[in-house]
Amino acid sequence: MDTDAPLLGEPLPVELMNTVWADRDGVHDALRDRDGAKAWLRTVSARTDLLTPGDLDRLTPSDLDRLAHRLVDLRDALRRLAAEVTEDPRPHASHPRALDAAVTALNQAAGDTPRWSALSWTPGRPPARHVRAGGPPASAAVSAIADEAVALLTQDARHRLRACLGPGCVRYFVKDHPRREWCSATCGNRARSARHYRRHRGTT
Ligand SMILES: [Zn+2]
Repeated sequence: MDTDAPLLGEPLPVELMNTVWADRDGVHDALRDRDGAKAWLRTVSARTDLLTPGDLDRLTPSDLDRLAHRLVDLRDALRRLAAEVTEDPRPHASHPRALDAAVTALNQAAGDTPRWSALSWTPGRPPARHVRAGGPPASAAVSAIADEAVALLTQDARHRLRACLGPGCVRYFVKDHPRREWCSATCGNRARSARHYRRHRGTT
């Protein structure tokens, strides 16, 4: 099963923030239960060098519950921190926790499962890097996303993080082009038709 969260090609911490998303039917949470969390991790597993779909299939329901809980906790912390960085004006977009609690949650997630690189070198073949983890691959992947979030929030990319101000949108994106205004083409189209509607309503 694929996640129902639309993936936008953003860095993984931003994709995780965007597991809360909205459409005409309202706000959705792609991590609302353990199956949702598993589906999201399965969809992004190819973008980690720690996790395969098979690793997820080996987890017991209680493992998955714990994992889903950690993923939601990290997601909520990241949305709170993104709201701070972007001075997010959208009501209800951010998680209402305190800033220091969000920082603590992020740091706990980053430190939960250690990861390191190992070199393998078979004579006659090029040297290769493998990522090793001191815990289950899925936990290590969540820690790696937290780690990437720390880098995102402390490097120049922070200044390009944006809250999408498309009508009803609750997503974030990294502004990777000077003219980019929206998280997606859908939001751009919606914003244009809303402007069009307002203009025409004003003249009739
Ligand atoms: Zn948007």
